[in-house]
Amino acid sequence: MPFSTLGLSDALLKTVAELGYTKPTPIQQQAIPVVLSGKDLIAAAQTGTGKTASFVLPLLEKFNHDKTLRGKRIRALVLTPTRELAIQVEASIAQYTKYLEVSSLAVYGGTDIEPQKQRLIWGVDILVATPGRLLDLAHQRLLHFDELEVLVLDEADRMLDMGFIDDINKIIERLPSSRQNLLFSATMSEDVRALAKRAIDQQAREISI
Ligand code: AMP
Repeated sequence: MPFSTLGLSDALLKTVAELGYTKPTPIQQQAIPVVLSGKDLIAAAQTGTGKTASFVLPLLEKFNHDKTLRGKRIRALVLTPTRELAIQVEASIAQYTKYLEVSSLAVYGGTDIEPQKQRLIWGVDILVATPGRLLDLAHQRLLHFDELEVLVLDEADRMLDMGFIDDINKIIERLPSSRQNLLFSATMSEDVRALAKRAIDQQAREISI
């Protein structure tokens, strides 16, 4: 199955071709149409399967198509367990936005908060964040989630293993209730299922790679 059958526009097809991606990975084949359709998704997938592009490409497609809110409010929030993953996911987004007008930023703890605050003031479409730093910034009233369209929980099992459940719950309370939710996890433990039950539409599509 080629990338061109998945519903992505020419700008993104050109980007993936330039990156040397000849065909979508199995998770991309399954997830991209679901994310484009606006449905919630629960995906069991390990790192290395191409899972980042499986949610980033369709989000970019949606946001580039509808630019009405660009630059004003956060449209997608990607929560990651670690600073390293936040940096890596944001680097992927930056790579895929080469021909698009969609902005992204990673915020994470263990580093000076001031540059992150300055950057947020300009506005960002896709915010990638670790839970603790996100709450810090939210408490300082620097984040506006009133126009948030999509929440991505990346490596949900690791976030739970690292004890982020209370932070995740506090973050979710701040988000609009009508949003699209995408959950990615290497394992589907009881704890991940319980989180999915609370945060995600019970009609969500489930994918296992
Ligand atoms: P991830 O599982 O998201 O960490 O991605 C693993 C690696 O696969 C990253 O370095 C991506 O650049 C690469 N990748 C993602 N999708 C494809 C694809 N369709 N073809 C070739 N490489 C890909």
